[in-house]
Amino acid sequence: MSSNHIGEIEIAMPQSIAADLNVENSRTGPGVLAARRIAGGDLILDVAPRHGRARSAEEYRNSLAAQAAQLNGLLTDQHPAERLAGFRRRVAGPVVFTTSFGLEDQVILHMLRDKAIDIDVVTLDTGRLFPETYELWAESERRYGLRIRAIYPQQQALESLIGRHGINGFYMSREVRSSCCHVRKVEPLNRALDAALGWIVGLRADQSGSRHGTALVAVDDRGLLKLSPLFDWTREAVRSYALAHRVPLNPLHDRGFLSIGCAPCTRAIAPGELERAGRWWWEQDEKKECGLHGRKFGEPATSTPACTGEGSKTTGGASP
Ligand code: SF4
Repeated sequence: MSSNHIGEIEIAMPQSIAADLNVENSRTGPGVLAARRIAGGDLILDVAPRHGRARSAEEYRNSLAAQAAQLNGLLTDQHPAERLAGFRRRVAGPVVFTTSFGLEDQVILHMLRDKAIDIDVVTLDTGRLFPETYELWAESERRYGLRIRAIYPQQQALESLIGRHGINGFYMSREVRSSCCHVRKVEPLNRALDAALGWIVGLRADQSGSRHGTALVAVDDRGLLKLSPLFDWTREAVRSYALAHRVPLNPLHDRGFLSIGCAPCTRAIAPGELERAGRWWWEQDEKKECGLHGRKFGEPATSTPACTGEGSKTTGGASP
């Protein structure tokens, strides 16, 4: 039984065979056939997709897009805590919340626990986080009475990366940095989301130029629904909520680290600097991210995505 209170079986298959959501086909119940595994709640008595025996990736994506539009209509006017509850109720499959213990993620964690919303809480331990982040991780588990599931890089891939480029090879070039982000973050995230139908993240639309288009519910390119419950909140609103509810926060925020990632790749920013200017600060590109939010629909989980990234005026730290 998963932490989503959904019984789950897994059957290895050489390739995906279909995808079926109960909102599309009420005969099958809330079962999901996803990449290489069957995951979901009820027994699937009959798979009768609307369009033929096996639905194409495009049909599956269109189905997700229809659900996203429906959820946006239902949830946009609600408080973020109600958005979280409504998303959990309406997504017929496992939902994962990924936290990097930033300001937004801590507020989301508080709302999930305060409302007793049953969501799988996951973090990506890159092995290079700040000591303060590990402290906050432990403090959050104590405060909210849960174990946060940690996903680690693949041992062989990490050993190979460090063997090729050294322990701090990410300073050498954009390509090496992207490889490090892929091994330590993107590939583990792909595993964390492998069986999920919903993903909760701490993105805000005013965090950066490239995040202006952030929607409340979007179709993620991994083939799932992505909820950004704080998409229309400012950093100040999030911080006010955190202080009012005594949410444990990373002390680095008060030392100029507004967006906190791996220790060797994050510095404090000066007043007026863009929010994410302290991430990979030695890179000159305007766009700087690690690829967590950019995989193309249907792209294999093992490929290396392009890293993009950016910064906006001083707002807040994002999910990983
Ligand atoms: Fe590696 Fe830096 Fe990316 Fe962390 S942020 S995964 S240390 S390159």
